[in-house]
Amino acid sequence: MSETTHDLPRIGNMGWNEFIDHVQHFHGYAAPGVLLGGIMVEIAKKHLNQLMHGEQVLFDALAEATNCLPDAVQLLTPCTYGNGWLKVADLNRYALTLYNKHSGEGVRVFVDGSKIDPYPTFYEWFMNRVDKKDQDENKLREEIRVGAEHFCSVEAVTVPEAFRTKIRKGRVELCPVCNEPYPVRDGGICRGCQGYSPIHSYSPQPAASTRLQAPELKKVAVEDAVGGTLLHDMTQIIPGESKGPVFKAGQKISAGDLCRLHEMGRRNVFLRENLPDNQEWVHENDVAMSFAKAMCGEGTSHEAEAKEGKVKISAARDGLLIVNEERLETFNLVPGVMCATRHSYSVVKANEAIAGTRAIPLYLPRSAFITASAVLEQGSIFSVLPMRKAKVGILVTGTEVFRGLVQDKFAAIITKKIKAYNCDTVHNEIVPDELDAVKAGVNNCLNAGADLIITTAGLSVDPDDITRKALIESGLTHDTFGFPVLPGAMTLVGRIKNAQILGVPACALFHKTTAMDLMLPRLLAGLGVTRRDAAKLGHGGLCLECKSCTYPICPFGK
Ligand code: ZN
Repeated sequence: MSETTHDLPRIGNMGWNEFIDHVQHFHGYAAPGVLLGGIMVEIAKKHLNQLMHGEQVLFDALAEATNCLPDAVQLLTPCTYGNGWLKVADLNRYALTLYNKHSGEGVRVFVDGSKIDPYPTFYEWFMNRVDKKDQDENKLREEIRVGAEHFCSVEAVTVPEAFRTKIRKGRVELCPVCNEPYPVRDGGICRGCQGYSPIHSYSPQPAASTRLQAPELKKVAVEDAVGGTLLHDMTQIIPGESKGPVFKAGQKISAGDLCRLHEMGRRNVFLRENLPDNQEWVHENDVAMSFAKAMCGEGTSHEAEAKEGKVKISAARDGLLIVNEERLETFNLVPGVMCATRHSYSVVKANEAIAGTRAIPLYLPRSAFITASAVLEQGSIFSVLPMRKAKVGILVTGTEVFRGLVQDKFAAIITKKIKAYNCDTVHNEIVPDELDAVKAGVNNCLNAGADLIITTAGLSVDPDDITRKALIESGLTHDTFGFPVLPGAMTLVGRIKNAQILGVPACALFHKTTAMDLMLPRLLAGLGVTRRDAAKLGHGGLCLECKSCTYPICPFGK
């Protein structure tokens, strides 16, 4: 068979028309997207081969569109969705990357928006500018056949290791809601039961088992309970006076207790001896204690014993409370368990309560206990980080202040705030709004041993505001500038050498509480602030500017 020009380009070992038949068979019809994808695969293979200097390598594929493109890859390479060598990212860009499985080096082929104008039929189809019924299918195919090599661009890329390594399935348990096996790393219940499933099930099982099962417990009249072991704590509540367990779970009931039980208005009790099958149920006190132990990270401690099914968790030292919010949510997804905490990044004192955990029912089904415990096996939920006594350098910038035309109020405000955290000022300087003066000021702070430099003003985009520029020229790194917090949007956080930098905008002069109050404890706890950390502050980042400020007992920054 002789090859005609019309057969070009060759796709795999097929001529163009043969490829069209092949696509028809595999995809259901000869979709233009798969035809385009076929040429893109060929382009990618050719460039990967050049990149690897002709050496044969095992490659994986990444398609950035869910439609058509993955089929071209599956048709023409050993990579399929099912064998995991083809990954599909839902980015809705018509781009394909082939990369060395081991090194991550690869080539990305994409439809280049700057090159499609000369192909009007393709342009209209690709940009969705034409009705399908008005589409000239033959003309479109022809433009793809002759044009794809021209309107696709190629770039060298690296696929990071985290993306290349297969995510291990890890521990598998039965979902306590649907009872289907699922990897515990997905959370306390399977992703389907978390609400991600698009399907409505008519099987009665899932709905029924979201309601907690309880063991059949036999009521025993108190008179008949003497000698038995109590199954639950019993509380006597005298309004306004006391609330606490008078009888504890595990306690043997003696004849002498009858009077007290009657006094409390108790006619019946549950006994441990009557529990149907101990293997299937875990008592609330055992549940709470086991959870509390697993939840406590550094700087936290829990009560020595559970009371009425609940264990309180406290700070073991002064510091900054950090809550692993994702794990907390995953844990609380398990039916029948709960943990409530204070907000992450709260400043706490030793012995202050930070959280409480308990089981909801008196007896938790063991399956739910195992699932919740598996979540906690991945790590603790809270920790309290110590906050250091920083050596602070205060650098006030402003020409008017420097010349004494305006009296500086900043240093006093900053000093008051850092004193509240037992920090000392090791250097305090006012410099004019001049690049070299600010840079010299930074150096003076560093030389004085400052490990936290707080600079004021000069952080906006005003051309006279040169503080930020000076900080950058002084070697600013890890910097985040611009926070979704009001007041305090022009805040800056970063590092210069071993010192943390906190740039406080002028609003701190007029407002009692600003972004500075949110950032200072984090910096003293040694935490950096990433763009993502900053972005999270937007939700709750609006100060209500109350006449009388009650921060931190208010929603600001929570
Ligand atoms: Zn489930």
